[in-house]
Amino acid sequence: MSLPHANRSTTVGFIGLGNMGSGMTHNLQAAGFPLVVNDIRREAAGELLTGGAAWADTPAELAARSDVVITMLPTPRHVDAVVHGPNGILAGIADGGTWVDMSTSVPEVAERVRTEYAARGLRILDAPVSGMSVGAANGMLQIFIGGDAIDVERLRTVFEAMGDPQRILHVGAAGTGYAVKLMINQLWFSHLVATAEVLSVGVKAGVDLAVLRNALVASPANSNFVENDVLSILEHSDYDEGFAIALACKDLGLSIDLGRSVGVSTELSALVEQIYRRAKARYGDRAGEMTPVKLYEELIGSDLRLEGASA
Ligand code: NAD
Repeated sequence: MSLPHANRSTTVGFIGLGNMGSGMTHNLQAAGFPLVVNDIRREAAGELLTGGAAWADTPAELAARSDVVITMLPTPRHVDAVVHGPNGILAGIADGGTWVDMSTSVPEVAERVRTEYAARGLRILDAPVSGMSVGAANGMLQIFIGGDAIDVERLRTVFEAMGDPQRILHVGAAGTGYAVKLMINQLWFSHLVATAEVLSVGVKAGVDLAVLRNALVASPANSNFVENDVLSILEHSDYDEGFAIALACKDLGLSIDLGRSVGVSTELSALVEQIYRRAKARYGDRAGEMTPVKLYEELIGSDLRLEGASA
């Protein structure tokens, strides 16, 4: 079986043109890759089609017309439907073909393909990302890839069109990309809840918010979240609607499932998940991933904003 390195004549099929997929596909197109795209919302493909991308009515049709198939879908359930469902990827992809799942998901869907379709010799990578919709739009995603090194190398130009070349990481065997991504999100969501709690108590105790945050940044308790990410709210009132809290809750659930499956107790993660789910129930599925901070702002009766912050 020949495994050519991807180049500008490699047709990339991309399924899932949402907050992340829209930016990623625009960057693939800008890098010169011929594109075939699919989504249940055809309107999501408008600009891409104007730019020369082809539309496929089904994942099967897309897979039949592509050298590499990429999925960027909300949950494992969606990935499973697109792969195994009627007119799914498996119904169109050539034997020996390549599928890369960039969704934040779990290994089970790909494992089932490897087991049930072993004779077809499909090449499968998990390659979830960090960097928010902003990173997807500007081609600076961090990418965590699980699978065979040979596949990572032959697809490097494709990954580099979407991600920061310095942060495209081959993290191990199949499934490890998903695990790394889930652990990053778990820790980031934990930082968010811990920071919201600390800032709220401190402010309520009479400390000026800017003074408190500066003290934290200068202390051993500093974190990237306190130093940088929390400013999205403190300065811009931006709770990141580019990543829906429903998907954040999905990630927290998958992370806890992973802990359970490997026999490690995850009390803290479970607590963070409950707080996230409470925020989701209160503010709605589409609220931003940083919305749990609002729960604390309600508790103290004021928004956490630095002086001069934009509303
Ligand atoms: P999204 O909901 O904005 O986009 C998902 C897209 O998939 C939508 O356009 C939807 O119409 C499409 N879709 C759903 N079912 C489909 C099907 N059966 N066939 C074809 N298309 C279908 O989600 P997103 O924010 O782009 O996230 C995608 C993945 O990336 C998720 O796993 C998420 O956890 C992960 N992620 C998101 C962010 C972020 O900041 N948004 C960051 C890192 C990782």
